[in-house]
Formats: sequence, structure tokens, C-alpha cells
Amino acid sequence: MRPRPGADKRRLIGVLALLLLLGFAATTLVSYQVSRSSVRETIVSSELPLTSDNLYSEIQKDLIRPILISSMMASDTFVRDWVLSGERDAGPMTRYLREVRDRYGAFTSFFVSERTRTYYQTGGVLKRVQEDEPRDAWYFRVRAMPAPYEINLDPDLANRDALTIFINYKVVDYDGQFIGAIGVGLTVDAVRALITDYQQRFKRSIYFVDRKGRVALFGNDQHPAGSDIHAMPGVREVAERILTEGAGTFQYQTGGNTHFLNVRFIPELDWYLLVDGDEDAALSRIRGTLYVNLAICLVISAVVLLATSLTINRYQGRLEELAVTDELTGLANRRAFDLLIPQALGESRRAGEPLLAMMIDLDNFKAVNDGHGHAAGDALLRRVARVMQEALRASDLLFRWGGEEFLVVLKRTDLAQGRQLAERVRAAIEAASVPWEEAQLGVTASVGLAVLGEGEPVDEVIRRADEALYEAKRQGRNRVV
Ligand code: GH3
Ligand code: MG
Ligand code: MG
Repeated sequence: MRPRPGADKRRLIGVLALLLLLGFAATTLVSYQVSRSSVRETIVSSELPLTSDNLYSEIQKDLIRPILISSMMASDTFVRDWVLSGERDAGPMTRYLREVRDRYGAFTSFFVSERTRTYYQTGGVLKRVQEDEPRDAWYFRVRAMPAPYEINLDPDLANRDALTIFINYKVVDYDGQFIGAIGVGLTVDAVRALITDYQQRFKRSIYFVDRKGRVALFGNDQHPAGSDIHAMPGVREVAERILTEGAGTFQYQTGGNTHFLNVRFIPELDWYLLVDGDEDAALSRIRGTLYVNLAICLVISAVVLLATSLTINRYQGRLEELAVTDELTGLANRRAFDLLIPQALGESRRAGEPLLAMMIDLDNFKAVNDGHGHAAGDALLRRVARVMQEALRASDLLFRWGGEEFLVVLKRTDLAQGRQLAERVRAAIEAASVPWEEAQLGVTASVGLAVLGEGEPVDEVIRRADEALYEAKRQGRNRVV
């Protein structure tokens, strides 16, 4: 069976391509998976808790200051003296409340007197609080509670019902008797702005829910996808666990995307703080890297395959050349004859043209080797080869047949033309010489010529050319037979 270099090469390139792509794909995907799990790890173990911690401490800071202010108001001697002296004129109290509000940048400030149930506020007397009015329930709650203050989130009646965080402080007289409630109100806008800032900075969704799971407060730019966590897509799966466990990181899926939800309870507000991290935003960056990596791998694979293919082609060409070329003379060798002759034969048979075989053997060549050495013989062989090429036509096929034996196949040539050519070759060899150590080396050649008969195999015409050559030798060499 003949070797099929083309198929071998295609198979080699195919296997190489497969190996390269599999290798690259494996390493790229593995590193993607590693980055992905480390992104997850980072989100769960540090980013979300950190955001939650920061937010919590900011909120505490924002709430503690108003508590201190309210505490100061509750123990202010002016307030107590003014109440004890019969709260005859609302003016000084109103001024006092206005002063506190402006000085500490609160949203509002208030005092409710126990004796008269009057609600004082920065603009003057607002109303009287009543036990059966639900909106005043807070006052009676404060009045009854053992703690010195509470934080309450309520619509502010005095300010178009804006959602306000109130610090409600109990005021007692010098004997410890309850004489009213005082404090400041903060708009939730400040907290909202804080949440918005955090959402933008950390690309997170941040909101508060109450004990029942209702959304109480959220930022301005990213709204939670519902007003109750029991109704939010994805979140609803973990809603009950959030409300019962109260803290931790919960994982849920929505829209093919993994979310991590960090939850903590804020006792001051009686709310849960929820920080929702979407894995996709963090992954899009490493996904970009993945695509770049894959593209680089493809380019490298293509370059390697191209280089391999070109190298194989070059060596293949070189090997083929070596296999059909005689090293010493650069002439075609016997292998080349095997490859070329069937085609030449077919051509001349189809066209009905004559074909000639010319066998050439150098005369007494052994004497050259013996007299001047093998290297001298080689030099002379090379020279003879060139001289023959020059004497022949482009269409004549010249082969180095053996040591100092040459075969010429003459296409489209009859015997008369063949004789002429053979004579030309013989004369050219005779005329040629090689300078060697002050001597001029020369040689003659004997030539046997035969015409290919109709239907005759090539071996046969070569055998007859050989016979003719032998006859030329017998007749005294340096001649054509
Ligand atoms: P004849 O006229 O009968 O052909 O005499 P001859 O000396 O040429 O005899 P023969 O053909 O038997 O010998 C060929 C010689 O050519 C023998 C061998 O050493 C020499 N020869 C063959 N190939 C090479 C070669 O590549 N280089 C050299 N230097 N010598 C070679
Ligand atoms: Mg010879
Ligand atoms: Mg010989």
C-alpha cells in the first residue's frame, strides 16, 4: 500500500487542533470556575456583610445624635420650669423648639404636655392629643412605657404626613413625675439618601422590611421588586426563613441569576436590613476575561496549526525532492524514473509518437578513480552530468542510472534525431574536462540507443539500449551504437 501523506497530514493537524482546543478550553474553563467561586465567596463572606455593617453603623450614627438631642431636651430645666409654672404662654416653648430644630438640623421638634395634652411644635400649638385618636396612640404608649425613650416611624402630621423617624423622650419633673413627651423628628430622606449612595457604590439592592416582611424603607434608585418579601420573585422562597432566622445570608434564584441576600435585624428600628447582591454584575467582568482568553486560545491554536502545516509542507517537499534526486550530480535518480516514466510512456503512446532510450556509460572510469582518487572521480561525474544536461533538450529526461551510467528518455524523437543527439552528448563528454591537481581530467562515453517498439514494455527497450551500449564498448568505446 502506498503512503498517503495528505491524509496523514490532515489527521495530524486534526489531532493537534483537538488537543490544543481541548487543553485551552479545559484550562480556561477551570480558571473561570475558580474565579467564579471566588467571586461568590467574596460576595457572601465579605462584600455583603461589609455593606450591611457599614450601613448599620451609619444608621446608628444618624440615629444616636437625635437621641442625644432629645435626651438633652427632656432634661432641660427651661422645659420643666415652663411646664411647672403653668405653661401660660406658648411663645417661649415654640421659640425653644424652633431653636433646637435649626441648631441641630432636625426635621422637626415637638413637646406634648401631660397636664394640658397640648401638642407644641415649631410653628406654635398644633393640637390636643386624645386617647381615642389612633394617630395619638404613640403618646399614650410613651407615657406608659418603662423605658426613657423610643424610636418610632410615623407620618408627621405637621409636615404633610412625610414619613418621619421620631425620637420620643419622656419628660419628668424634679420629683420624677411624668409631665410630657419631647423630642425631634428626622425625615427618612436622609436615610434614603444613604441607602441610595450605598446602592450605587456597591451595586447592591438595599431595603428595610418590618417584622411582617413588609418593605418599610428603600433607596431612591433601586426599588425592591414588591412591597412585601412574600410577593417578591425569588425572595419569596426564602421569606419565611428570613423572618424566623432574622440574620444570615440567603441564596435565591431569579431570571437564571443567583442572588445572595444578607439579612440583619436592627433592634432600634425593629426592622430587618436586607442587602441583595446579584452575582451577575460581578461575573460579567470575569466572563469578559473568559471570552478574551478563549479568543487568544483560538488565535494561538490557529497560529500553531498554520506553522505546523507549513513546516510539514516544507519538509514533505524537501523529502520528496531528496527521494527523487541524486545527491552527487543533482540529476533525477531511478526513483524519479519510476515516477515519471509511466506518464511519458502514456503520452507518447496516445499521441503515436516515437520514444527513444539512450544508455550512456563512461569509459574506463575506474582508471580515473584509481589514478586520481574518488574525489576526482566525483568531480568529473558532476561535470559530465552538467555537460549532458546542456547538450540535451528541455524535453529529454536524464537520469543517473547507476554509478557512472546514465539513462536518457527522448520523447517525440525518431531514430535519426536520436542518433544526432547521442552523438552530440558523446562529443560534449569527450570535450569536457575538470582541472585536478595540475592535470586536466577527461573521459569519454559509450552510448547505446534503442527505439521503443509498439506495445513493448519499458524494461525491454532499456534492455536493448543496454545491449547496444555493450556493443559500443565491444567496438572500442567512445561511440554510439
Ligand atoms: P568500462 O569502460 O568497461 O565501463 O570501464 P569502467 O572502468 O567504467 O568499468 P565499470 O563500469 O565496471 O566501473 C565503474 C567504476 O566507476 C567503478 C566505480 O568505482 C566507479 N564509480 C561508480 N560510481 C562512482 C561514483 O559515484 N564516484 C566515483 N568517484 N566513482 C564511481
Ligand atoms: Mg564505465
Ligand atoms: Mg559502468
